[in-house]
Amino acid sequence: MKDLESKTSLYSLDLDSLKELMISLGEKSFRAKQIFDDLYKSKNKEIADFRLLPHSLISRLDIDYTVFDFELIKRLVSKDAQTSKYLFMTKDGKFVETVLMKYDYGNTLCVSSQIGCRMGCNFCASTKHGLDRNLKSYEMIEQIAYVQYIENVRISNIVIMGMGEPLDNYDEVIDFIQKIISPMYFNISVRKITLSTCGIAPKIRELADRNLAINLALSLHNPFNEKRREIMPVGAKYSVKELMSALDYYVKKTGRRVTIEYTMISGENDGIEEAKELYSLLRGKLIHVNLIALNEVEGSHKKASSNKNIKAFQDYLNKRGVNATLRKSLGQDIDAACGQLRSKNIAKIELKN
Ligand code: SF4
Repeated sequence: MKDLESKTSLYSLDLDSLKELMISLGEKSFRAKQIFDDLYKSKNKEIADFRLLPHSLISRLDIDYTVFDFELIKRLVSKDAQTSKYLFMTKDGKFVETVLMKYDYGNTLCVSSQIGCRMGCNFCASTKHGLDRNLKSYEMIEQIAYVQYIENVRISNIVIMGMGEPLDNYDEVIDFIQKIISPMYFNISVRKITLSTCGIAPKIRELADRNLAINLALSLHNPFNEKRREIMPVGAKYSVKELMSALDYYVKKTGRRVTIEYTMISGENDGIEEAKELYSLLRGKLIHVNLIALNEVEGSHKKASSNKNIKAFQDYLNKRGVNATLRKSLGQDIDAACGQLRSKNIAKIELKN
């Protein structure tokens, strides 16, 4: 029997590839659809659990193929059991983080799109070790399928907001979205998918032109160009003005409301001056502001804003007609902010070496 690393994940094959595989194994091509349904409509970890396949085919598939080529390394559940975080290892030995959040409106999975990130946002643990590699679309699909299997739940909402900048892995992320919304795959509503970007303006326009009508979230974190550049180096390439124009284009093309993600960092971006500037950027636009208290990273001097500052900031915007809500930060007891768990595990491996 081969090791996991040398096997191919069945999730990496589309229906046509599965048909070709069946024919090459001397099987009827309808077996491909049975395998496909077992992958996307059932929750299995082993090929042996596929319901309709003959034993002979299961044994032959088992030699070279596996359901998941990810291995679950760690599963952490928050005290309130609302949030679970998973650390997976890919077959080439890299760590991937995924977070499940159980909201009243459905199970939401925060999916990673890259291993590491090269965007360099200075409040984020995912970028500490730079970009290792892009994830393939099937590796994003595996995150959904694996969590559905572990928890025996259906994931109804997807946020592409985990490790990595999704628009920096554009083609694989688009392929992932197109697959998961298909009734053949997970049949997830396009309106329940949110892509979060740090602001790659030309890619926002490209996404708008695709007319996928997914929800778009922009991590802004500071309305002033100079200050934003200090915390988000991508701001040196695409100014706040360029981003606002790209968002206008997105709204015009898709008719979808855009969300501004704004992490509140004490003394850095939580003053009335910033609230005023944000208001002047956003007034009259089909935009919603999500305020999030910073999820403090171990070893960083940055602290979350006080409740008083958050409230004053929120009130300033709401009173003037710019809709702003405070997002509940789930799972702080399990390092749910992206990259934190992976960073700790990389540090452990570095210590061991
Ligand atoms: S916040 Fe997002 S884009 Fe910025 S470094 Fe972290 S993962 Fe990358």
